[in-house]
Amino acid sequence: MSKRLFNFCAGPAALPEAVLQTARDELTDWHGKGLSVMEMSHRSDEFVGIAEQAEQDLRELLNIPSDYKVLFLQGGASQQFAQIPLNLLGEDGRADYIDTGIWSRKAMEEASRYGHVNAAASGKEYDYFAIPGQNEWTLSADAAYVHYTPNETIGGVEFNWIPEVGDKPLVADVSSDILSRPLDVSRFGLLYAGAQKNIGPSGLTVVIVREDLLGKAHSKCPTMLDYSVAAKNGSMYNTPPTFAWYLSGLVFKWLKAQGGLDAMERINDAKQRKLYTAIDASELYSNPINVADRSWMNIPFRLADDRLDKPFLAGAEERGLLNLKGHRSVGGMRASIYNAVPEAAVDALVAYMAEFEKQHG
Ligand code: PMP
Repeated sequence: MSKRLFNFCAGPAALPEAVLQTARDELTDWHGKGLSVMEMSHRSDEFVGIAEQAEQDLRELLNIPSDYKVLFLQGGASQQFAQIPLNLLGEDGRADYIDTGIWSRKAMEEASRYGHVNAAASGKEYDYFAIPGQNEWTLSADAAYVHYTPNETIGGVEFNWIPEVGDKPLVADVSSDILSRPLDVSRFGLLYAGAQKNIGPSGLTVVIVREDLLGKAHSKCPTMLDYSVAAKNGSMYNTPPTFAWYLSGLVFKWLKAQGGLDAMERINDAKQRKLYTAIDASELYSNPINVADRSWMNIPFRLADDRLDKPFLAGAEERGLLNLKGHRSVGGMRASIYNAVPEAAVDALVAYMAEFEKQHG
């Protein structure tokens, strides 16, 4: 029998074990139809049913208003970095971007190929350890939209507030915090997320877009990247990533069974509290992020002496605590504790950290 270990990977990340078991049980013969979801036509009644149910469950979880489209796309969040300006910027327009770390800067660089990017605020003067407050932002009067990254997966900063941008569409990269707690979708023009953290397997990208923002794509925008084409075709202009869509649907069902996003918020709050408390109480570990801006999902931490990194990681792996190595651009450690990472995983990590500190502190 296989033994599942605790996986702290930033993405592709842990999936709920119950979801994997359902997928296993249904793998070769989905609901007695004699074939796998992977082998179905995306136009079949069976798959269209799976797809529609997944959308409906996501709508319920996030309480998505009826004037928003939910699109199931490909290309990852990285493709959205181009797709957003191609759809929303018009010919040579301007957009405001908030720079809070590596992912927001990637979005800015790509958007600047299609129009004018105004860096309306930057966390640089805080070494990206804090999020600049809205009083420090200089938004442009003529911006087509305002883009920000609510959770910086690598840096470990997270907004615990939604920016106020008047009548400008607010666009957010929620790749690493979607579904971690309730979110007021009506405050946004567009939300997007690569699936491989809190939604499902990689290969799927979810876009939630207010209908009035459709139909404004640049004249040179590829058909495949035009949101209105995807919306008109139920995200099936071409063959969608059917298995990833199905598996994400199973995750949405699992989230509903857990009690929805209010329940996830309580669980995730308890998890992050335990880990930050352990880090802050120790002499060996530290997390540099401004307390109010600390991520619930991605918790980077350093050891006081980086020569201890290797033995720390080796000991973690021996205890079945996987993928704690920090991002290559940052070093140190990072624990990603998405929805599918149970509180028991955090308990095991905290216990190991204490044990390691006793030996090496
Ligand atoms: N934005 C954020 C916040 C991310 O965490 C990531 C992936 N780690 C990306 C964008 C890029 O996502 P993808 O690999 O799906 O293109």
